[in-house]
Amino acid sequence: MNPRALATPDVSLDGGRPGSLVVDVRDAWKEYEGGITALAGASLQVEPGELLAVIGPSGSGKSTLLHIVGTLDRPSRGEVRIAGVEVATASDAELAALRSRSIGFVFQQFFLLDGMTALENVANGLLYAGVPSAERRARAGATLGRVGLANRLDHHPSQLSGGERQRVAIARAILARPALVLADEPTGNLDSRSGAEVIGLLRELNGDGTTVVVITHDPEVAGAMRRTVEMLDGAIVEDSAR
Ligand code: ADP
Repeated sequence: MNPRALATPDVSLDGGRPGSLVVDVRDAWKEYEGGITALAGASLQVEPGELLAVIGPSGSGKSTLLHIVGTLDRPSRGEVRIAGVEVATASDAELAALRSRSIGFVFQQFFLLDGMTALENVANGLLYAGVPSAERRARAGATLGRVGLANRLDHHPSQLSGGERQRVAIARAILARPALVLADEPTGNLDSRSGAEVIGLLRELNGDGTTVVVITHDPEVAGAMRRTVEMLDGAIVEDSAR
């Protein structure tokens, strides 16, 4: 997916009332042609400030759930409310605005553009938010500093290690200071040391109040989260918060 497709002009939306859930998915189903059921009645509630891992075998519906939580996809049936926005009745423009303001995405494959420097990759995240170029670059530089890459601003992705690339991707994801960060196997392409750094960074973000949801296969990554939700056959079968 092109991360730039996630950015859009700012419009005013209800960003969620204090104390309300950041994620509220109820009895969500996702069916594909050919009788494939990717989600079978999944329900997930996440409070502001939570740090949680979604685990489960391949094909259990983790990515499908994350795409629905990220409003990149809609369920076939079920209720989805993200940061106070009812997804079923929101227009595509409203959902795009919700994503650009409130949700940061981190993927296993980084999705950085190699023709651009780290700074440009991050600054691009605000391209469609109406932020002037100089401010975009200043904020991108500060955010890269926050993820420990102040000395890598002018490097291209091909000049960075996997761990550094993922930190650039995290900087891009948090540039707009989203309430919710969704990470799909963020350590999947990293060695264990870089993976641990990336998880440390996500924990730090959470310490600053950001709600963080991480899909992972890695028991060590899951062990670093405060809450673990386990999926099987499209449903949530275990939730350490219950
Ligand atoms: P996980 O992330 O746990 O590996 P997914 O959410 O990717 O699981 O997939 C759940 C199930 O839905 C799998 O059987 C997968 O093949 C199927 N699936 C996912 N996306 C599609 C799609 N676009 N079309 C058809 N089947 C899909």
